[in-house]
Amino acid sequence: MVHYEINGLASLNLIALKTTVNEKIWLSSPHMGGTEETYVKEAFDTNWVAPLGPNVNQFEKAIVNYVNEDVHVAALSSGTAAIHLALELLGVQSGDEVICQSFTFSASANPILYLGATPVFVDSEKDTWNISPDLLEKAILDRIAHGKKPKAIVAVHLYGMPYKVDHISKISERYGIPVVEDSAEALGSSYENRKCGSFGDIGVFSFNGNKIITTSGGGALLAKNQEIKNRAVFLATQARDDAPHYQHSSVGYNYRMSNVLAGIGRGQMEVLDQRVTARRKNFEFYKKHLLDLSDIEFLDEQEGFFCNRWLTCVLTPSFEHREKIRLALLEEEIESRPLWKPMHLQPIFKNFLNFSDGTSENLFERGLCLPSGSNLTENDLQRVVKHILKNQ
Ligand SMILES: *Cc1c(COP(=O)(O)O)cnc(C)c1O
Repeated sequence: MVHYEINGLASLNLIALKTTVNEKIWLSSPHMGGTEETYVKEAFDTNWVAPLGPNVNQFEKAIVNYVNEDVHVAALSSGTAAIHLALELLGVQSGDEVICQSFTFSASANPILYLGATPVFVDSEKDTWNISPDLLEKAILDRIAHGKKPKAIVAVHLYGMPYKVDHISKISERYGIPVVEDSAEALGSSYENRKCGSFGDIGVFSFNGNKIITTSGGGALLAKNQEIKNRAVFLATQARDDAPHYQHSSVGYNYRMSNVLAGIGRGQMEVLDQRVTARRKNFEFYKKHLLDLSDIEFLDEQEGFFCNRWLTCVLTPSFEHREKIRLALLEEEIESRPLWKPMHLQPIFKNFLNFSDGTSENLFERGLCLPSGSNLTENDLQRVVKHILKNQ
């Protein structure tokens, strides 16, 4: 019995030692600024524990001020909800086709299916890893030739890197097809000194737990006028007609952000610029310590582009190389992740039409996201670099 206890103690100590030496380094974890609890407490103190209230209004105002363009913001329950409403507001209906950047997270594409519409996937170009203007135009012309002019384009600023806004906007105008700007990963990024989220006919942010700032879960829709915002809020709050009883003449959703969570958002907006600075510093650190000493490549900004560096992504020479690094980091309690698997390769989407040239497939095979939280210490970053250099 005694012997057993001693053994138990010994292994317990070993675990304790392992966690102090090898504390887990996460890919991207929430990072509170300090004032969030004040706003959340305010919601409790005033009993605004509801999907509307002063925190929601103030959070929306803070986003408008930050983006600093003529936008009208509706805070919602998620970025996915915002994309869903955006497509619906642009008139996408069952049977329509919608073009979507293939190299993205599935939440960019799923809402197309919610509406009974059909996605058409378009590959990325090498300069930004985002939707290729050439392939986009090719896809549009092909669909028009088949009598299926796309109803909308979902373009994504992936990993915070802006897509080629001028090119994409011109194509959108030329063919009269509106853009849903999926800026879920690009809050704080800008293009030609204008903030991402303000370029599409409708813009989208996400405040999910792993994004650059978070409300634990949440999103926002950015409309070009008050009328569209009002319509978004109407649909997001069960589409109640103006009557004393509950009356409905449209299908509604329960997509509004709660006033409690908007309190977290208000606090997070106060530190957003600090978070962008910290993430960009992570990127610079990795680049400085890896570029010359390894075969690893980084994606630089084009002129006029400003990337929030939500995640630092690197390209290794091959799939095998990438896996070697990823597994070695895992062994050291360091979380890294392959780049997004393109939608046209996903089991759920692989039978839909796609216009691809192998670019995103290649990025997926060779690419890795490194730990990128704004709360990482220099020690953490050094540990990541050390184990990459040891295993490349
Ligand atoms: C996170 C994300 C979304 C969805 O946002 P949620 O708030 O998680 O619903 C959509 N598109 C992209 C590119 C994302 O990264």
